[in-house]
Amino acid sequence: MNSTAPAYIYADNAATTPLAPEALEAMSPYLNKEYGNPSGIHRLSRQNAQAVAKLRQSMANMLGAPSPQEIYFTSGGTESDNWIIRGRIDELRKSIPLEEPIYVITSAIEHHAILNTCKALEAYNVRTELLQPDNEGFIDPRSLNKALENHADDHVALVTVMYANNEIGTIEAIQSLATVAHKYDVPFHTDAVQAVGHTDINVEELGIDALSLSAHKFNGPHGIGALYVKSRLKIAPLMTGGGQERGMRSGTENVAAIAGMEAALKKSLGIDAQKNRKRLSKLRDRLAKRILEETEDVIMTGTGNSRKRLPGNASFCCKDVDGELLMVLLDKEGVAASTGSACNTGSTEPSHVIRAIGINDPKWNKGSLRLSLSEDMAQEEVDELADRTIRAIKKARLLSGMSF
Ligand code: PLP
Repeated sequence: MNSTAPAYIYADNAATTPLAPEALEAMSPYLNKEYGNPSGIHRLSRQNAQAVAKLRQSMANMLGAPSPQEIYFTSGGTESDNWIIRGRIDELRKSIPLEEPIYVITSAIEHHAILNTCKALEAYNVRTELLQPDNEGFIDPRSLNKALENHADDHVALVTVMYANNEIGTIEAIQSLATVAHKYDVPFHTDAVQAVGHTDINVEELGIDALSLSAHKFNGPHGIGALYVKSRLKIAPLMTGGGQERGMRSGTENVAAIAGMEAALKKSLGIDAQKNRKRLSKLRDRLAKRILEETEDVIMTGTGNSRKRLPGNASFCCKDVDGELLMVLLDKEGVAASTGSACNTGSTEPSHVIRAIGINDPKWNKGSLRLSLSEDMAQEEVDELADRTIRAIKKARLLSGMSF
């Protein structure tokens, strides 16, 4: 074992990340000293209302949103995704009777926060059109154009296509997709949960009307996120109650978590961001090269174009390997990794993303592996990760042979 590598290597940063020290520091005063409810009238409350306003402004600046009023704090990616879809449908239903279907156009490789929300809304006569990716996970803007052309006479509430895929790391052509949606006067939302903090995003420049983000994916705290909604886009409130978030999302603000999220995002977009991401991409390519060269029957999933892939994502399919067994063996080797998406753990079905990119043979699609790296990893650690992964794949293949 490499003497400088840690005993346990965390390579599951797409699932969640540790809290940055800067985030912890920013949160700390709000947990036990500055605890006033921002809705109150006294000094402690007023101070926190001001703090939240400042943090909202800073979040808006970092995302390129023209107004802080366009940032709504939520509990994370799942809530933001739910809200934008449900909020659009509820808004449209104010004038469209239930007998008339409303469409949502999305992709077959979205996170379940999007796909299962669309599914749940079928009961309210919402119909979903799924755009299919190519075999690297790209959604072709021409397929969106075709779908919108086909629905020219229908009510289309929203186009929603993820910024970057959580399993295979493919970064979509967001600006082109948004342009197509706007050609048909349909708002464009992107689930940017995997991308915010890891790529540069300017909602105004890219033509994004709504965007979901989640702090725990960029070294912020769990249970906090945001939904950006362009001011002219109308959506119905998600939660009713005391009227916080300008009446759109009631519930006492989590000031500490908001402060932690803002500090984490600021850190991830710091002056060294470009340099750090470039370095991480190189480490990822080094890791992938070794795994592909030193094992047999393993393919990389997603795109080989490193500029169009999340810098920390290395994903694979291993033939004749049981993905869950591979996770157990990796864990024994001292590696935290994931098969398919972490939010799907417990399911033995091959991932919907892997199938959508055309890997339908069960000999291949049951053995999916995602290693997601972080910017603070040293090269020695990544080399040790490669050694351990290669050993685990070989072992898993031997053991899986019994059940295949
Ligand atoms: N969207 C994507 C693309 C994700 O990767 C995830 C989490 O893995 C989510 C949404 C859900 O985010 P959260 O965990 O903040 O609810």
